[in-house]
Amino acid sequence: MSPPAATFTEPSASFNSLSLKKDLQVRAASNGSEAKTLEAMANNWESNFSFAPIRESQVSRAMTRRYFADLDTYAESDIVIVGAGSCGLSTAYMLGKQRPDLKIAIIEASVSPGGGAWLGGQLFSAMVMRKPADAFLRDLGVPYEDEGAFVVVKHAALFTSTLLSKVLSFPNIKLFNATAVEDLITRPAPGAPGSVRIAGVVTNWTLVSMHHDDQSCMDPNTINAPLVISTTGHDGPFGAFCVKRLVSMQQIEKLGGMRGLDMNTAEDAIVKRTREVVPGLIVGGMELSEVDGANRMGPTFGAMALSGVKAAEEALRVIDLRKEENEY
Ligand SMILES: Cc1cc2nc3c(=O)[nH]c(=O)nc-3n(C[C@H](O)[C@H](O)[C@H](O)COP(=O)(O)OP(=O)(O)OC[C@H]3O[C@@H](n4cnc5c(N)ncnc54)[C@H](O)[C@@H]3O)c2cc1C
Repeated sequence: MSPPAATFTEPSASFNSLSLKKDLQVRAASNGSEAKTLEAMANNWESNFSFAPIRESQVSRAMTRRYFADLDTYAESDIVIVGAGSCGLSTAYMLGKQRPDLKIAIIEASVSPGGGAWLGGQLFSAMVMRKPADAFLRDLGVPYEDEGAFVVVKHAALFTSTLLSKVLSFPNIKLFNATAVEDLITRPAPGAPGSVRIAGVVTNWTLVSMHHDDQSCMDPNTINAPLVISTTGHDGPFGAFCVKRLVSMQQIEKLGGMRGLDMNTAEDAIVKRTREVVPGLIVGGMELSEVDGANRMGPTFGAMALSGVKAAEEALRVIDLRKEENEY
């Protein structure tokens, strides 16, 4: 029988999601319920199997308590990554590995993170990465076949799911999916009249963002952060978001527009030019091709991974300075 609502005691909610997680782990370990093995369940489904009783509100509270604690914790982040495609996730992986002290929020407009990296070109399974991006695969522990100048992962989803699982395992990284960045928070740039530095993001549920034209009163939410890393992919219904906003805010004159496909030129350019485009905003991955007028590369993904590595390197180079500027 389920516990009656009135007598069911919720664990005390903490407003810090990092300490809440620890608190819940301790409670789970000490509640005395014995963990069954799969072997014990095998062939015993009728006689020796049923799920532990639950009240529906426990499920709701288990989700909402954590989510709202996360919203509270990450309202002030050290770094916000916009877009959880191959570049954004690679950036998060590198930062998570090197800096467990930084609070990192990832905002992804889609319900499913991973961007375009669930398949190779034309919806084929295999993912091609040109060397030396194989170094990133070895670091992640993703197996591949060596074809000389390039390597092949047997299914792009193996790369993306491994990367995603590692990123989500870092205690200091929170992914908010189904959430779109719909504007940037700005502050006057120190010593540069007319220029701004980026000081965070304005967010909304993606479904709400898509209905601003036919619904009213749907104000957004905000996350303050001294550094934003934008990896929203090339131009499209959602892509190239932050750099298009830089143009409309007159912080860059115009977009270069992504050029035609040239794998050899494109991949080097994206990695080498991954940089802080305006103070507080690093741009990486295919979003950068829209700023610089770089070539597209088609279905070869090494540049996305290494652009993420470079974006993390750039972030760690400027984070202390941006934090100092972010006093207000
Ligand atoms: C859904 C999809 C399918 C694709 N399929 C193929 C394919 O089959 N073959 C091929 O060669 N290329 C494909 N591409 C293009 C190719 O995957 C990209 O060139 C490459 O993945 C770029 O990587 P990226 O990390 O820069 O950006 P992407 O992989 O495009 O990831 C960008 C992420 O940012 C998110 N995003 C965008 N705007 C916002 C915002 N305002 N707020 C929050 N999040 C935002 C997007 O939802 C996406 O998850 C696809 C791209 C997409 C998005």
